[in-house]
Amino acid sequence: PQRIYYLSLEFYMGRTLQNTMVNLGLQSACDEAIYQLGLDLEELEEIEEDAGLGNGGLGRLAACFLDSMATLGLAAYGYGIRYEFGIFNQKIVNGWQVEEADDWLRYGNPWEKARPEYMLPVHFYGRVEHTPDGVKWLDTQVVLAMPYDTPVPGYRNNTVNTMRLWSAKAPNDFKLHDFNVGDYIEAVLDRNLAENISRVLYPNDNFFEGKELRLKQEYFVVAATLQDIIRRFKSSKFGCRDPVRTSFETFPDKVAIQLNDTHPALAIPELIRILVDVEKVDWDKAWEITKKTCAYTNHTVLPEGDCKRINMAHLCVIGSHAINGVARIHSEILKQSVFKDFYELEPEKFQNKTNGITPRRWLLLCNPGLADIIVEKIGEGFLTDLSQLKQLLPLVTDEGFIRDVAKVKQHRHLKYTYKIDKNYFRDLNPLSAFQEEAKMAHRARCSRCLCIYLICTLHEGIRKDPTKSFVPRTVMIGGKAAPGYHMAKMIIKLVTSIGSVVNHDPIVGDRLRVIFLENYRVSLAEKVIPSADLSQQISTAGTEASGTGNMKFMLNGALTIGTMDGANVEMAEEAGEENLFIFGLRVEEVEALDQKGYNAREYYDRLPELRQAVDQIGSGFFSPKEPDCFRDIVNMLMNHDRFKVFADYEAYMECQAKVDQLYRDPKEWTKKVIQNIACSGKFSSDRTITEYARDIWGAEPSDLKIPPPNIPRD
Ligand SMILES: *Cc1c(COP(=O)(O)O)cnc(C)c1O
Repeated sequence: PQRIYYLSLEFYMGRTLQNTMVNLGLQSACDEAIYQLGLDLEELEEIEEDAGLGNGGLGRLAACFLDSMATLGLAAYGYGIRYEFGIFNQKIVNGWQVEEADDWLRYGNPWEKARPEYMLPVHFYGRVEHTPDGVKWLDTQVVLAMPYDTPVPGYRNNTVNTMRLWSAKAPNDFKLHDFNVGDYIEAVLDRNLAENISRVLYPNDNFFEGKELRLKQEYFVVAATLQDIIRRFKSSKFGCRDPVRTSFETFPDKVAIQLNDTHPALAIPELIRILVDVEKVDWDKAWEITKKTCAYTNHTVLPEGDCKRINMAHLCVIGSHAINGVARIHSEILKQSVFKDFYELEPEKFQNKTNGITPRRWLLLCNPGLADIIVEKIGEGFLTDLSQLKQLLPLVTDEGFIRDVAKVKQHRHLKYTYKIDKNYFRDLNPLSAFQEEAKMAHRARCSRCLCIYLICTLHEGIRKDPTKSFVPRTVMIGGKAAPGYHMAKMIIKLVTSIGSVVNHDPIVGDRLRVIFLENYRVSLAEKVIPSADLSQQISTAGTEASGTGNMKFMLNGALTIGTMDGANVEMAEEAGEENLFIFGLRVEEVEALDQKGYNAREYYDRLPELRQAVDQIGSGFFSPKEPDCFRDIVNMLMNHDRFKVFADYEAYMECQAKVDQLYRDPKEWTKKVIQNIACSGKFSSDRTITEYARDIWGAEPSDLKIPPPNIPRD
């Protein structure tokens, strides 16, 4: 069959044990067996390290896609790097983020299998010589790429695909040179230089870092993967019709390479190089084959950096037959601004593929209580065809179902309250509205802490009139900050500082809690998302490509308070705008404000509650021992906030008042929850992958019918 190669510098897999049991239909059997042994399966699951080989959404998308591709029965491979250290562990010390190395392989990794028989050389540096036999690449430094395979089981369909991650190994003659001049010890120690290539994941989400080691990582994965792809192609009957020379005519029909952002962009020049220099295909043909084979997914509208370097995004656009954004609004922005000139040249290349999430991990595995009550009503079909959730629509007014859904959410509140209590020794109010926002803190996001002003304002409100009735709230905020990123780290300190004041204010009692979710990662997301009532997705319109966290919350029965950005737009379209809490400037309005000139002070002067919150932060109300602590934040917000936070403040606060109002009526709230769940079917990564297969990879839609489960659900 045609093979799909998903190239990504990140695969944010999280834990594997429960997912394996779920997809193989073994969960109850294992549960029972473990119980017989006097053990608790949930406790065992907690021992597993997360495979944290990603920063956030982009890496998690790759992981969801692997699950969907296996479930859809596609012959698909994930190719990436086996980082020895994944995304750092975040510790909070005195309110500040402290990074710790993620030594996830310390006790071994039972899910992987080394495949030394497929080890490949990757060449760096050297020089090029033109000889009568063609171009020769000489005097290179060789690093070996050792593949490690991890099985990717589909959901109950007897399909198991492979994720192949490369690890850098120094060849035995590495620095033999030095050895010969007598410094054997030095030569052995220098092996580290080669092996550093796969040492650590760069902890940058949505940010280009022009480091040589990062470029080496990008070439390393691409060079090893392409050799592997071509070896496999040649060993198939299509590659070796001519025993002397392989015909690459059929290569694009048998091989589809999907580039997850520009990170593996070097696949394009490297494939051309191999075809021309090694396989002796002529230049024009090599270009044609490469273009037909490669496709590029863009994940960000933020510029990637220095114009004097090769622009990887432009390289991807010209070297691919398809370019896609990850939500409708984002794909439109690509055509209208980021790649405008390219779009005018080749409009047929531009597509949209709205992101999705796998409903196995993000519903069945993380929220079995909710999955169960849905199965009771509409059967199990939705687990492989999420659009079937539509069948829940008539139940929006079903008293019994409303009660069941509310009960499941209440149960998750209690379960999570207990977990937090163990960690924080603080009382949470399980009857409060859980508002959650957790995602990697990066440039486009760090100023968007509107909820910080909400907290300040709510806190002030309670202090001013303690007897008034308040809708109790638990506000949870989480996410790692890139270690070199000062402002994001300050915001974390601000949240923890506000928490330490608010959470210990006796007047507040348990009506308001501010929790920073330490070390947010896949396994923590699986615990907190099912407990959420309100999902906060408040990027400045036009800055968030899609988001996938928003989809996880929707599927798990949280209502969204959000701007018209990324996939929020399509979530509102699916569920009806009146069933989300949509607020703030639209893209066109943000652009108009850009033209007019955004002036933060205008809002500060006009809105007394905003002014009070900003003044409190700036004057050290939350940092009495260090009154100047948050001066930089206030300065950024007042004087150079590219993301125009204050412009959305008023609308946000009005919207939060509507949230309060609805939360006072649990039945009406739950009706909207059911409406949202019923309309979340579009956001399955099965749907996304079906579209990639049909529109980009050229796989026949008829091949993509999900085979019926042949293992009974346990
Ligand atoms: C889904 C997910 C993300 C992406 O969340 P966004 O809100 O879309 O940025 C980030 N981190 C983890 C651990 C996730 O599971």
